[in-house]
Amino acid sequence: MYTKIDGKQVSQAVRARIAEETASLKSKGIEPGLAVIIVGNDPASRVYVNNKKKACEQTGINSFEYAMAEDTSTEELISLIEKLNNDKRVSGILCQLPVPKQIDEERVLNAISPDKDVDGFHPVNCGRLMTGCAKFAPCTPAGMVEMLKYYNIPIAGKHCVIIGRSNIVGKPMAMLMLANNATVTVCHSKTDNLPEITKQADILVAAVGKPKFVTAEMVKDGAVVLDVGINRMENGKLCGDVDFDAVCEKTSYITPVPGGVGPMTITMLLQNTLTAASDEN
Ligand code: NAD
Repeated sequence: MYTKIDGKQVSQAVRARIAEETASLKSKGIEPGLAVIIVGNDPASRVYVNNKKKACEQTGINSFEYAMAEDTSTEELISLIEKLNNDKRVSGILCQLPVPKQIDEERVLNAISPDKDVDGFHPVNCGRLMTGCAKFAPCTPAGMVEMLKYYNIPIAGKHCVIIGRSNIVGKPMAMLMLANNATVTVCHSKTDNLPEITKQADILVAAVGKPKFVTAEMVKDGAVVLDVGINRMENGKLCGDVDFDAVCEKTSYITPVPGGVGPMTITMLLQNTLTAASDEN
C-alpha cells in the first residue's frame, strides 16, 4: 500500500504560512514584492506568469509584471533588471524562461542581484547552495525537500538517486539532499547500467523530461519516488517521467503528475520572495 504525495495539500499548507508571515511583515511596514519579467509571446510562459501573479495575490505579496516585446535585446532586458535591482518595492526578480533566441540568457541571469535572485540561478546563489548555506534554493528541488519533510519521510542516511543533472533541478537537488545528510548519486544520459543504480535508491528523483522513463524494474520495493517530469502527451494530457501505474505499487510514497512536484515550485518562489523581503529589512 503506497501513499500518493499530494503536492496541492503541501502547497496549501506552506502558502497559508507564507500568507501569515507576509501579513506580519506588512504590519511592520515591509511590503514583499515580486517582479516578473516576460519577454515575447510564448503561451506556456504566459500561463506560468499568470499563475505566479495569482499565487502572489493569494498570499498578499505584491507582484509587478514587466512584459517585453519578442524582439527585445539583451541590453534592453539587462537595463530593466538593473532598474529593478535598485527598486525598493521589489524584493525578488524573476525572468521567465525560456527567453527568445537573440537574448543571452546567462548574461541576463547574472545581471539579477544575488539578493533578489528568487529563482536561485545566479552563480553566487549556486555557490552558497554548494557550501551548504543557501539563501535561495532553486524552487523545484526546494519544493521536493519540503514535501518529504511534510510527510515526515526520513532523508538522513538514505540513498537518494537523482536521474538528471540540469542546473535547475538535478544538481541543486543533489546539493539539498546532501545538506540534509542523504547519500547522493546523480545519474544522467551517459550513465552506464542505470537500472542497477536506480534500484538502490531509497529516494528516487526523476528529472529527465521523457514520459514514463522510469519503469517498475528500476525501482526498489518500498522506495520513495519523486517525479519532476512534465511531458505533454499527444492526447493533450500531462504525464511524468515515471510510469506511475506500473511503479506505484512498489513504492512507499510517490508523487503523481499533475498534482505532485509541480504545485510546489511556485510556492517555493513565494517563500524565496518572503526571505528576500525579510533579509533586506
Ligand atoms: P533537462 O533537459 O535540462 O535535463 C534532463 C536531464 O536528463 C539531463 O541532465 C540528462 O543528462 C538526463 N537524461 C536524459 N536522457 C537520459 C537517459 N536516457 N538516462 C539518464 N538520464 C538522462 O531537463 P530539466 O530542466 O531538469 O527538466 C526535467 C523535467 O522536469 C522536464 O520534463 C521538465 O519539464 C520538468 N520540470 C518540472 C518542473 C516542475 O515545476 N515540476 C520544474 C523544472 C522542470
